[in-house]
Amino acid sequence: MYTLPELEPLRDFDAIAVLTSGGDSPGMNPAVRGVVRAALNQGISVYGIQKGYSGLLAGDLRLMTSSSVRNIVQRGGTILKSDRCEAFKQPENRRTAVQILKDKGIQGLVVIGGDGSLTGAHCLAEESDLAVVGLPGTIDNDIFGTDDTIGFDTAVNTALDAIDKIRDTASSHERHFLVEVMGRNSGFLATHVGIAAGAEMVVVPEYEVHIEQLGQQLSESRRSGKGSSGIIVVAEGRDPGLTYRLAEQLRQQGEDPRVCILGHIQRGGQPSGHDRVLASSLGAMAVSYLLAGYSDIMVGVDAGGIVEVPLDSVIRYRKGLDPHLFELALLLHK
Ligand code: ADP
Repeated sequence: MYTLPELEPLRDFDAIAVLTSGGDSPGMNPAVRGVVRAALNQGISVYGIQKGYSGLLAGDLRLMTSSSVRNIVQRGGTILKSDRCEAFKQPENRRTAVQILKDKGIQGLVVIGGDGSLTGAHCLAEESDLAVVGLPGTIDNDIFGTDDTIGFDTAVNTALDAIDKIRDTASSHERHFLVEVMGRNSGFLATHVGIAAGAEMVVVPEYEVHIEQLGQQLSESRRSGKGSSGIIVVAEGRDPGLTYRLAEQLRQQGEDPRVCILGHIQRGGQPSGHDRVLASSLGAMAVSYLLAGYSDIMVGVDAGGIVEVPLDSVIRYRKGLDPHLFELALLLHK
């Protein structure tokens, strides 16, 4: 599936650790399994840190064996648990974290999470001599430097599964449904879901919504007999309640849409085949990059190949939604 780089081992590790942090995503488990099995195969001990950076600060590190990751490749969520940890944003707490790792003889760390978690990973790499590799684990696919993230494909499929069902009801009752998917800052998920669901409209944070135009469009397709029902996919955006407000605005224009918030179901569930291969490859390659002497990088995907990207760039730049893809989502329903 992916082109893997040839990496020459240049250094040794006695022990490394792995953690999952921030919002969980389907595929974190196969990624953890990839890290653990690849490291054990090289004779490196692996600690699983429980509950992300909170567990690291609490010293909750458990030695993993090959059987610790048996039968998890197909499971959603993360066996290591995840958490958000405000305390980790303070440098003095990160110094404590480094000491905890050193006390166990750990020289390398793999962090699986979104841009917040990768920011924490970058801080650790900069402030210590630990070798740190990040893996992009988020359903939003909004991480700079990688075409794909662990969990995105599964989340698209979960949303599609729900939308295909909602469409049956929309059609029976001749109604429009506003379906809200995750995506506070980015419309990647909404755009992909919109294209794959054949949505009548997609609303994303990157572009302004022209609600009057949308209302007119819906009324026009109802009048002309082109479509009395349909799906409008809405990325949740930064302001809570956006989808309900859009529905209210459409009501004021004479439409009577229903709202369905998909919410946390998008984060759960068995990882898709695609995400299992992606996560397994990234997990194993994280170990290869550590052995090749890399640190302060994220391992991601570019043009079908596994690549490394400096964490500094990952957190500094924003990945933009491809305007052509968004146009395609709008064009195809016309
Ligand atoms: P995600 O990794 O899914 O983007 P968050 O943004 O909530 O999730 O970040 C997860 C965790 O990463 C935070 O709870 C915190 O422990 C750590 N983190 C986030 N931002 C920073 C930062 N600026 N410096 C250090 N650690 C951070």
